[in-house]
Amino acid sequence: MKKNKKRIELVVKPGTSLKNKTGPWRTEKPLTDLEICIGCSLCAKVCPDSAITMKQNLKKSKLEPHTDYNYCKGCGLCAQVCPVKAIKMKKDY
Ligand code: SF4
Ligand code: SF4
Repeated sequence: MKKNKKRIELVVKPGTSLKNKTGPWRTEKPLTDLEICIGCSLCAKVCPDSAITMKQNLKKSKLEPHTDYNYCKGCGLCAQVCPVKAIKMKKDY
């Protein structure tokens, strides 16, 4: 009897959430108070959608987070981890 050589081909290519722009369904969005922010980068590290980029503010000699709302899904993780509560979630209908 011949062996059944049929096999399931499962190819999972690595993806990136940067290809998936947020639709109109986000109900909240984070607003960051850069005066309170200490530039620790925690928010950028935890964002599951890589929506936060840290940029150098040369005048203040510190890193500041910049949120790209095209990709932010409004999960609120960044606000949860911010050690100085610089990020507040606001309604976004
Ligand atoms: S709310 Fe969520 S998706 Fe939006 S920037 Fe914060 S961690 Fe990222
Ligand atoms: S977690 Fe808070 S303090 Fe740290 S970079 Fe983000 S906004 Fe600034």
